[in-house]
Order: sequence, then structure tokens, then C-alpha cells
Amino acid sequence: MANVALLRLDQMGGHASGNKFLKLRGYIAAAQAQGITRLVSFGGAWSNHLYALAATGYQHGLETVGIVRGEAPVEETDMLKDARRWGMQLEYVSRQHYRLRDTAEYQREISARFAPCLLIPEGGASGVGAKGFCTVAAMIKHAAPAARHIVVPVGTGTTLAGLAASLDSDYELIGISALKRATDLEGRVQMLLAELTAERPARWRILHDYHCGGFARVDQTLRDFMLAFEAVQNIPLEPVYTGKMLLAVHQLLKSQKWDPSVPVIALHTGGLQGRRGYQWLS
Ligand SMILES: *Cc1c(COP(=O)(O)O)cnc(C)c1O
Repeated sequence: MANVALLRLDQMGGHASGNKFLKLRGYIAAAQAQGITRLVSFGGAWSNHLYALAATGYQHGLETVGIVRGEAPVEETDMLKDARRWGMQLEYVSRQHYRLRDTAEYQREISARFAPCLLIPEGGASGVGAKGFCTVAAMIKHAAPAARHIVVPVGTGTTLAGLAASLDSDYELIGISALKRATDLEGRVQMLLAELTAERPARWRILHDYHCGGFARVDQTLRDFMLAFEAVQNIPLEPVYTGKMLLAVHQLLKSQKWDPSVPVIALHTGGLQGRRGYQWLS
């Protein structure tokens, strides 16, 4: 892909590589400042967030608890095995219970149960999480001073909002949603931006047509694209976020909706541990 540079967060941060360790930084600092030694958060059986939390907690000598969506499986995923190896305590909750994770009452219950602890929202989705991306904005300015167009995958919009707040309105961010019909995403980004009180945030928009069937779903087009991309570029992707994001870039250039002479930075947000959940990638 001519004129597309990949900024590889997947190569930063050790085991907790990718965007998730950046979102955790502020929480680690807050826990250390308050003398709290236990971090609690939520995620699914392949969660990049719980994976990063377990690895980061282990590195910093902090206890971690993962509230995992769904009943305990007969055999745990490789992700959950890794998390346990790093000392994370795993608590399975029914999907019904899991849906309560953002309610004040359930959070009080969890906080009391694991007290003293710091509760982190699922995916590190918060202003605290978004602030972790100011270092990425600095890297973009330094590494590619001419680039003004940055493409990022979107789950909760925290990465997009954090970058938008730390860049300025000379930049345009294009988010590629990993979810189907996530109509609340723009509102979430706006709320985060308001919380971050950015004076002149980057311009941004989210494209919703590249979900390939829905969150963590894979269709033939995505599969073919990823296998071809990996073979030619020798850069690993995962299908949930980075594969869809680069498929979008590829299709927009191919269909000439984007001018190929304009330099673009695509953010590789990591998540490669999740490849293990897809047999066709191994
Ligand atoms: C979580 C995740 C995202 C989405 O980040 P948000 O800040 O939630 O939008 C993108 N890429 C990877 C690899 C992720 O793990």
C-alpha cells in the first residue's frame, strides 16, 4: 500500500503490547499513588485488555482480578491461561451479570468484595485510559511530520479520542469500527473529548462499513486479505481490529475513494495474542 506507514504499537510494551497497556498507565500510576495493590477489571475469554492488565500487574507487583464474561469453560483459552500464569485471579460471571458492569450498584459490590482495589472499566474505556495516547501523538509528530491522516481501529473509541485530544485540528483521524451498527460510538468519543478538555482536537470520523459481519466475526474477504497481507508484508495482524482497519484502508485506496498520493499513518494497535483463537491463522 503506497504511502501508508504502519505505526506499530504491537512492538511496544512487551507482553502487554499494543494500545491496552497505554490505557492502563494512568491506572497503574493512580494505584501506586494511593497505595492500592489490587486492580480489578472486566473482559471476555480472549480479552486483550485483561491480558494486558495481567501482564502489567505482574510487572509492577500488583494483584489483578479479572471478571470474565460467561460460565467457566471446560478448558480455558490460551489468554486466560496466560493471565493465570501472571497471577490474575479469574472470576466467571453469567452474561446477565456481566451486563451490569457499568452500573454503580454492581461496581460498589465488586469494589467492596475485592477492597482495597482500583476498579478499571472494561477495555480501559475512560478519560484516564485515553490520556495514555499523548505519547503516541508525540511519536506521530516526530516520526512522520508530513502525515495528517491517521487511521485507527475503534472498539470503545478511547484510542481515537485520546489521539484526537493530543493532536490538533490540522490532523484528521479516521476510525474503523470493529462493531456492527455501533451507533453510540460517536457520542462516546464526544464525551471523552469533553472530559479531556482538548482545545483544538483533531478532526475525526468513524467508518461503520468494515465490521465484516460483526465484532470478532470474520468473512471470506477479511480472511483472504489478512493472509495475503501477512504473506507479502510479513507483519502479523489479528482479525478483530487491525485486520479490519487495514482492509478498510486497502479498499478505500483501491476504489479510489482515497487519493493514493496523500500519506497515511495506520496505527497497529496490537492484540496479537488473540490470533491464537483463530485456527486459520496458525
Ligand atoms: C481494544 C483494541 C482496540 C480498540 O481500542 P478502543 O480504544 O477501545 O477503541 C483496537 N485494537 C486492538 C488490537 C485492541 O485490542
